[in-house]
Amino acid sequence: MNCSECDATLKILDDASVGEIVSCPDCGADFEIASKDGSNLVLKQAESVGEDWGE
Ligand SMILES: [Zn+2]
Repeated sequence: MNCSECDATLKILDDASVGEIVSCPDCGADFEIASKDGSNLVLKQAESVGEDWGE
């Protein structure tokens, strides 16, 4: 699995679960694990809207 921004290799743990955020070690882009189908992971780019969780 490579970063869609800079093509660096993303290290994703085998036991990573859907919804986890993976950060690119190279450019810092954040990706969320959108779904998992066996060993096939689908990543989507995490929204970088800042920490707006209310409170
Ligand atoms: Zn990257």
